[in-house]
Amino acid sequence: MKRTNELVGKLRRAINRERLVETAVRFLSVPSPTGDGGKASDCLAQILTEDGFRVERPEAGHPSAPAVVVRFDSGKAGQVLQFNGHLDTVHLPFVPPQVSGDRITGSGASDMKAGLIAAVEALRALRDTQALSSGSILLTAHDLHEAPWGFGQQLDRLIQDGCVGNAVLIPEPLCHPLPVVGRGAATWKATIRRDGAPVHEVMRPGDQPSVIAAGAELVRRLDQLNSRLATQSDPMAGSASVFIGQIHSGEIYNQYPQECWLEGTRRWLPGTARQSVETEFRALLSGLEKEKGVTITADFRFIRDAFFLDQQHPFVRAFQACYQEISDKPLPIGPKPFVDDGNSFWGLAQIPAITHGPRAGGQHTVNEWVSIDDLVRVAQLYALTAVAFCGEEII
Ligand SMILES: [Zn+2]
Repeated sequence: MKRTNELVGKLRRAINRERLVETAVRFLSVPSPTGDGGKASDCLAQILTEDGFRVERPEAGHPSAPAVVVRFDSGKAGQVLQFNGHLDTVHLPFVPPQVSGDRITGSGASDMKAGLIAAVEALRALRDTQALSSGSILLTAHDLHEAPWGFGQQLDRLIQDGCVGNAVLIPEPLCHPLPVVGRGAATWKATIRRDGAPVHEVMRPGDQPSVIAAGAELVRRLDQLNSRLATQSDPMAGSASVFIGQIHSGEIYNQYPQECWLEGTRRWLPGTARQSVETEFRALLSGLEKEKGVTITADFRFIRDAFFLDQQHPFVRAFQACYQEISDKPLPIGPKPFVDDGNSFWGLAQIPAITHGPRAGGQHTVNEWVSIDDLVRVAQLYALTAVAFCGEEII
C-alpha cells in the first residue's frame, strides 16, 4: 500500500497540466478532417520527436497521412500496453482551440485529439519517473476513423501488420461506464430491378415482374429474419437485428417502375462472425431473386465487429484497481453505445480494449469541449495502469 501511495504520488507529480494543455492546443490548431489528417499526424510526430521519442511513420495503406507510432520500452521483457487514438475529426467547419477555465473547446477537443494528448502526457510521465519496471508502451495514432469518410481501414491495417500490444486503452470521450459488450454493425442497400423500360401501367407486358411486390416480399422476409435474430440477445448490448430505414420505388402513380430499393442496418452480438452475417443476407436476397424473376444487387458495408471485454482479464483488473485508486470508487460496467476502435482490436486480434477517456461533450458538433481536470486524471490513470499491467505491480 505504501508502495502504491508513493507510485500514485510520483506519477501525479509527473503529469504536467500546463504542458498537457499547451500540447493539446498546438495539436488541435491543425485541422484534420477524416482522410486529410496528414498535417495533424505530422504535428503529432513533431511533438513526440521534440520530446525525445523515436517516432515511426507506417503508411498503413494511407500514404497521405502515415500513422504515428512510438515504442517506449522499460528494457525488461513484459506486457505491451497500447495507447491508441484516432486523430481525424468529422467533416464540420473547423473551430480553432480555445482555453477557458477548466475547458478546452474546438474541433477534436472532445473526439478525440485532446484525449490522445492525455495519453502522450502519460507516456512522458512514465519516461520521466522511470516507473515502468518491465514491459513497454506502444502509442499509435491514425486517420480514417470517422464514418462515412473513413471505415477504420488504417487501423485495421496496423493491426493486421502486427502493430499491436497485449491490451489497449482508447481515450474516446467516454468516462462512465466501462463498456464491456457492444454490437457489431453494418449498413446495407438492396436494389431490385426488372428488365425493360418504364411504361404506362396499362401498357405493361404481362410477363414483367413487379419490383414493388418483390420489395414488399423482401420487407416481409427481413421482418421474419429480425424476429429470429431477436432471440439472440444480451442483457446489456440488446439484440441482434436487421432494420429497414427506407424504401423507395416509382415516379408517378400510373407508371410501371423499373426499380425498388431499400436501405437499413444489421447488428450482431459477439460470437457471430462478420462474414456469416453478409452470407446470410445475400442468400436471402438470391432466394427472392429467383422466385420473383427480378435482379437484386446489394451493397453490404461492414462498419465494425462486435465487442466483448473479459472482466477477469488481468488488464481489466489492473485498470479497475488503478481507477479505484485514483477516483476512490470502482467504475461500473455497461454496454458500449457506439462502435469504436476497440471493436476492431477485439474483432481482428482478440486484444482486450478499454475505451476510457476524459469528461467531454459536443462530439460530432461544432461545440466540442473537454475538461482539463479530467484530461489530467486520464493521463494519471493511463500511466498508473501501465505500471500495474506491464510491470505486474499490485495496486
Ligand atoms: Zn472518436
